[in-house]
Amino acid sequence: MFDCYDLLDEVQLHNVMRWEIRLHGRGGQGIVTASKILAEAAFAEGYHSQSIPFFGAERRGSPVMAFTRISEDEVRERSQIYTPDYVLIFDPLVMKTVDVFHGLKSGGGVAISSSSEIDEKLFPDINLTVAKVDGVEIAIKNNLFVAGNPVVNIPLIGAFLKIFPHIGIENVEKVIVNRFKKSHEDSIRALHSAYDNAEILEIRGVKRNGVGEKKKAGEVWIPVSKPGKGAGGITGYWRDFRPVIDHDRCTNCLNCWIYCPEGSIKRKKDSVEIDYTFCKGCLVCLEVCHRKAITSEREVFA
Ligand code: SF4
Ligand code: SF4
Repeated sequence: MFDCYDLLDEVQLHNVMRWEIRLHGRGGQGIVTASKILAEAAFAEGYHSQSIPFFGAERRGSPVMAFTRISEDEVRERSQIYTPDYVLIFDPLVMKTVDVFHGLKSGGGVAISSSSEIDEKLFPDINLTVAKVDGVEIAIKNNLFVAGNPVVNIPLIGAFLKIFPHIGIENVEKVIVNRFKKSHEDSIRALHSAYDNAEILEIRGVKRNGVGEKKKAGEVWIPVSKPGKGAGGITGYWRDFRPVIDHDRCTNCLNCWIYCPEGSIKRKKDSVEIDYTFCKGCLVCLEVCHRKAITSEREVFA
């Protein structure tokens, strides 16, 4: 029986270079756009390329994936990517609910946007090159916002280019100019800032732990989502900004309680309270509070 992995073997046998990149993040972080930018820039380099989006719950903030294939030869597969060479992680908190490293090959790479130090223990026990950048910080500094939220896709591409030498930064710039027209200058500044400031870490696996091994005959590998309470899991991890209620200003009118799309505002006897375990930081409550009793702060998770 024919299997798409037979084709991969054939490609490798003929010494054709191919790189498979899987992107993980949350709705609204520009994952699909990043996948397309990489594919278009690779095409400009002279490679064949492909970009495939995968939407899960199709809710802002829910886990989203996209796949980019770059090859010296034609790309005939149309499948998701199960054994990536590279993984891009737009938000480290996605790692709590999605097995982002599933199938990642030893010798591959990871680009991650995070405000924290890189902790080797978070990564699989294989040889990896990791590029880390604080994409949210760079997005904020360079005015990269969509619907009020910082978009980390361009900074993360900048960090990725640091460990992926097959696409030149100038070809990414061309794609950005073409796509973003008037607002391209902010994006190009963010791209270079991330490229220049990305921290690189070499991780050396001490033993093979099964990650990156080849698929066995008849086995189907699917990235595994592990939801917690509720269909969307712990949606509090989706937050970039935390709404904060000033109880001195609050009149307990309950407008925020009515409009919160997550049901994350609880009624108390004389006040309202935000359940941060499930508040996803959409800031609808801030918009509807006529007393301006709700403000927002950048979220910092431990
Ligand atoms: S930001 Fe406000 S409206 Fe949005 S989920 Fe949190 S509490 Fe609800
Ligand atoms: S909308 Fe504003 S004033 Fe009304 S209950 Fe919510 S925080 Fe308080």
